[in-house]
Amino acid sequence: MLNDKIEAALNDQLQKELQSAYVYLAMSASCEANSLPGMASWLRTQWQEEIGHAMKFYNFIVDREGRVELKAIDAPKTDYGSALEVFEEALRNEQEVTAAINDLYQLVSQERDFASQALLDWFVTEQVEEEASVQQIIDDLKRVGDQGEGLFLLDRELGRRGRGSEE
Ligand code: MG
Repeated sequence: MLNDKIEAALNDQLQKELQSAYVYLAMSASCEANSLPGMASWLRTQWQEEIGHAMKFYNFIVDREGRVELKAIDAPKTDYGSALEVFEEALRNEQEVTAAINDLYQLVSQERDFASQALLDWFVTEQVEEEASVQQIIDDLKRVGDQGEGLFLLDRELGRRGRGSEE
């Protein structure tokens, strides 16, 4: 059984993961509108990953005899600006998610809920990868420039990311 405090916090994190998915999908649409199909595809894969994250919390709450509570998701922006601006905003969002995961980790440790802690161990590791992959794209965009041939080639490169196989 989950205690009430942890159940509420896990439901909050479920909402944050769904919100994150929604923002990535909006970023993908923004890139489609700016003729960046590779980045749009990369961001759409990220949307799928975030749905996967949300469902890990969903399934965990169910498995622990808790009650899933689906909260409202805010409408994201429609235009995220240049490719560099898109990925800089994605990094800020991931850093916020990391902070939320860390707060959650602290709570379940204090409450000695070791099953929740084991779930969150996966997320702590995942957030390192999430931030690193977005940071790499920002570094690449700064190196090649956010326009012209460099942007074209980077867009094609990011479009090669496999779909559906990642969590
Ligand atoms: Mg996530």
